[in-house]
Amino acid sequence: MAKRQLGTDSDLKIDGFKLKRGRRQRNRIRTLELADGSHVEIPVMVVRGARPGPVFYLGASIHGDEINGVEIVSRFVNEIDIKKLSGTILAVPVQNPMAYQVQHRYFIGHLIKSPLDQSPADPWASFPGDANGNIAERIAATLDSLMVRADYMIDIHTPTTGGKYAPFAFLPPTRCGRIVEKSEAMAMAFGADFILATNEGVYVQDKAPHTVTANRKKVGLGLELGEGGKIEPDMIERGVRGLYNVFRHVGMLPGETETFGRRMVITDMPVVRATRGGLHHRHVELNQDLRKGDLIASIVDVFGRVVEEIRSPRAGPVVRIATFPIVGEGERVVQLGKERKTRKKR
Ligand SMILES: [Zn+2]
Repeated sequence: MAKRQLGTDSDLKIDGFKLKRGRRQRNRIRTLELADGSHVEIPVMVVRGARPGPVFYLGASIHGDEINGVEIVSRFVNEIDIKKLSGTILAVPVQNPMAYQVQHRYFIGHLIKSPLDQSPADPWASFPGDANGNIAERIAATLDSLMVRADYMIDIHTPTTGGKYAPFAFLPPTRCGRIVEKSEAMAMAFGADFILATNEGVYVQDKAPHTVTANRKKVGLGLELGEGGKIEPDMIERGVRGLYNVFRHVGMLPGETETFGRRMVITDMPVVRATRGGLHHRHVELNQDLRKGDLIASIVDVFGRVVEEIRSPRAGPVVRIATFPIVGEGERVVQLGKERKTRKKR
């Protein structure tokens, strides 16, 4: 159980909400004005526990095709027993509404209309945002105005459409220092099958929200749960169960934490790619432990001939699979986990 002084939510104020103990509220925060004069509104749920305690930010669908997290967040905050909750939850089930409308990673309409002006196009890679910046930076700034008030944050993703992860947590970069150990303990409590602890790559960029959070000496992480563009009841169940455990871990809910999930810490996840184009027949499943040389996938050309048998270049567990039925040369088929050698003390 994390040692911390409870009671930090007592002076919390959020525009548009009357914060009262023991209340669950839903509202929308108005952001950008669109060309027709309508506004983009970000849905926010505030759950104020019966007792004072920390502030926890939960976000989902910052990439618009990542759907499982929307239901994980809304189910968790609707189900939670407010009488048992210490502290306040700030939950944003859809963090990027314009991308969500079209079920695409980005707000693709603006990206087509004015691609140069939309760089950066990804709010996730634009934290802490800029209230005078472009669309992505303004959305990030609005989300950050909530996130900055939180003691803890979890940001829920899936892979983009065409990919599926085993329940997976990604930590802030190791360069953020000791605070990352607390993020790792939180990922263990969540019961992720794989926990990425690294200092390099796309998951640890400086402008990602969990990195910004860690640099503020607050505890945060990202999650990847299931397949992009899908609603998966088993993953939603797993996500809600994991959040309950995390809330017990940080002391916002009473009770002991349970132990579940594979919880393997990995430092890298090398990509295995197709070298031929064709139909993609996968022969492995998530979490399967491969040996070097195991058959991962067969690529079959449009004339029905097997043109490639993709074999595992190394031993390791399958962390991510491609679910696209077709691939071109150079496309990702699976990613394998590389286990961390020395297990740190928790
Ligand atoms: Zn994402």
